[in-house]
Amino acid sequence: MQGLMQDWPLLCSKVIDHASAYHPRREVVSRSVEGPIHRTNYREVRGRALRIAKRLEAEGIVLGDRVATMAWNTWRHLECWYGITGIGAIYHTLNPRLFPEQIAWIMNDAEDRLLFVDLTFLPLVEKLATQVPSLKRIVVLTDAAHMPQTSLAGAVPYEEWLAEADEDFAWKSFEETTAAGICYTSGTTGNPKGVLYSHRSNLLHSMMALQADAMGVSSRDRILPIVPLFHANGWGLAFTAPMIGAGLVMPGARMDGASVYELLRSEKVTFSAAVPTVWLMLLQHLEKEGGDLPDLEKVVIGGAACPRVVTQKFQDNYGVKVIHAWGMTEMSPLGTLCTIKPEYADLTGEALLDIEETQGHPPFGVEMKVTDDEGVERPWDGATFGRLKVRGPSVAKSYYKGIGAEMFDAEGWFDTGDVAHIDPHGYLQITDRSKDVIKSGGEWISSIDLENIAVGHPDVAEAAVIGLAHPKWDERPLLVVVPKEGRSPTKAEILAFMEGKVAKWWMPDDVAFVEEIPHTATGKIKKTTLREQFADFRLPTA
Ligand code: ADP
Repeated sequence: MQGLMQDWPLLCSKVIDHASAYHPRREVVSRSVEGPIHRTNYREVRGRALRIAKRLEAEGIVLGDRVATMAWNTWRHLECWYGITGIGAIYHTLNPRLFPEQIAWIMNDAEDRLLFVDLTFLPLVEKLATQVPSLKRIVVLTDAAHMPQTSLAGAVPYEEWLAEADEDFAWKSFEETTAAGICYTSGTTGNPKGVLYSHRSNLLHSMMALQADAMGVSSRDRILPIVPLFHANGWGLAFTAPMIGAGLVMPGARMDGASVYELLRSEKVTFSAAVPTVWLMLLQHLEKEGGDLPDLEKVVIGGAACPRVVTQKFQDNYGVKVIHAWGMTEMSPLGTLCTIKPEYADLTGEALLDIEETQGHPPFGVEMKVTDDEGVERPWDGATFGRLKVRGPSVAKSYYKGIGAEMFDAEGWFDTGDVAHIDPHGYLQITDRSKDVIKSGGEWISSIDLENIAVGHPDVAEAAVIGLAHPKWDERPLLVVVPKEGRSPTKAEILAFMEGKVAKWWMPDDVAFVEEIPHTATGKIKKTTLREQFADFRLPTA
């Protein structure tokens, strides 16, 4: 027997309709790419999204077409997402930090028909547009007054393009399982893989994020999504914030410490989300220039392991709660968030930091397990590592065009490629990417743990650990360090600092000092390049 409740498809348009109806004047503030601060609200965002939808239709864009965006977080990018999805087209976020050839490859794979591009990236698009034959129209996210000379055929300023349509338009209706967005993983091995979100997965993902033990934000929050919309579905915040009518503060092109601090203070931001490197820059800015964070209540830190000192400084020095989170593009992206369950409510000091260093536990809607290489489940004892597998309604069941099928099994589990352990209360700790874990004498050493400890040293700006070949142990860890400006720590000082914080056999065999550590397009340490750089390096123990 079927239930007798209404069919109310979970469509992205429902989210902006809700925000516009019940939180019409909630502010959406942006640092515009042109410079000045721009202010709008959910009612206006919805109105402009309707016009975008109508204008896209006039352009010939229909259900299922891919529409690319290469843009910073601003109100324009937000309204584009709603305009695109409102007619069943698919937003395709492009990461401008990739090489032009990679971007062209991705655009061709997705067969993008139209591109919304910020002024910043025009020179980049000029280099690659002719390589993407499917691209029929380029809309530059600015007005006529700021429109530069460009060699791009068919490029028009957004505001003028948009002015050709009015708001008299109704969202298109279709099944909630229709594709809404596509985002490619950065593809550190092989070609990038497309992850195709549906309307349903986006909405369920945001409802998950809104659980009190997940992001736990409300209409009283003012959210600063520093994580770009082009990184892993913008961590879902473009849907999560309007779903509950939270205010949005969009950082535009400027994510350095000083600019982030300015917005946090002037816009009274209560909640923010970004990768660790952004927070390190903010903390370094605060240490240098002074300042406080009286409005900021919580920050979500994820995308890479959050160093313990970041959590400790936010909480002890600035009274800001840190929620360490783990996720991936394939998961829309949230997997786990570290909020404190009653089992750990009495912990304080270092013992509490031990728990906060984990990536936390999954909200309703994410299932996880760790297995050995044969797929046998490993115990939740907080120590036994294994391959981390997940499933849920906002987890990919396949990549675009069916590639990478080996990562999905018959029971619907997706192999994340991460190595992790889970404790008896369901707290997950990522110990490594399966390809980065250091295999020493048949045992595994977590490069992430060593990096986290090393960046706790007061003279260390950034640290990376890679495994180097070793005649006796297979691999041994090398610690690569970028010293803070004007500091020159020695190898002995750093090793002495780490001693006692990890098992003796985990200690790095050597420390190398460099000016810079290579990063991926999403700001993570690029271990493949680092391993190439140190391919000829000989460990003193070898
Ligand atoms: P990209 O590889 O394109 O940056 P993702 O954001 O999808 O894209 O990367 C997901 C991966 O990032 C995870 O599989 C995991 O290895 C790593 N990661 C994400 N969050 C954390 C975290 N809090 N701690 C450790 N690793 C993390």
